Amino acid sequence: MRIGVLALQGAFAEHICMLGSLGVEAVEIRKRSDLNQPLDGLIIPGGESTTITKLLHDLGIFSDLREKISAGLPVMGTCAGLIVLAKRVEGGVPCLATMDITAVRNAYGRQLGSFETVSRFADVGDVPMTFIRAPCVEGPGADVEILSVVDGRIVAVREKNQLALAFHPELDCDTRVHAYFLNMIDGK
Ligand code: GLN
Repeated sequence: MRIGVLALQGAFAEHICMLGSLGVEAVEIRKRSDLNQPLDGLIIPGGESTTITKLLHDLGIFSDLREKISAGLPVMGTCAGLIVLAKRVEGGVPCLATMDITAVRNAYGRQLGSFETVSRFADVGDVPMTFIRAPCVEGPGADVEILSVVDGRIVAVREKNQLALAFHPELDCDTRVHAYFLNMIDGK
């Protein structure tokens, strides 16, 4: 299995490390032609959604990436990556707009919005969750499955081939959320 990790800005190295510990090949996606190789899935990391959005356009990656996701390429967006996938963005402008959710940017406040917790994730069980100036999800469409709710806020969702998380699973030493994504690719 080969997973592309969008490596323009943000916490991409940690995702690559996590995939490595699961025995999966990870390749950095930095330019348009990097998308030409066969990929089984793609990760859009956390960072700053406005910066990632600008770089996707500046580097000419935007259209090809959007097309691949719309055609069914499995994708996992974490934090800023969730915002990049959302069709509607409160406090920002939509980017790829492939997922039928509203992302509320900086849902926990800008300054004090970082915290850690342990909470239930889908059928995986309780997993550590690190939130850093995180968004939350509102207005999920009819095809969107809610995978995790923390303090009344939706923090993990799935819509067909797309998985979006408000937290950073790559920053904790727990591989189960990445393994969930890999199982999703395998159709399990
Ligand atoms: N607040 C950031 C944004 O709006 C996301 C933060 C993160 O990815 N840790 O893009």
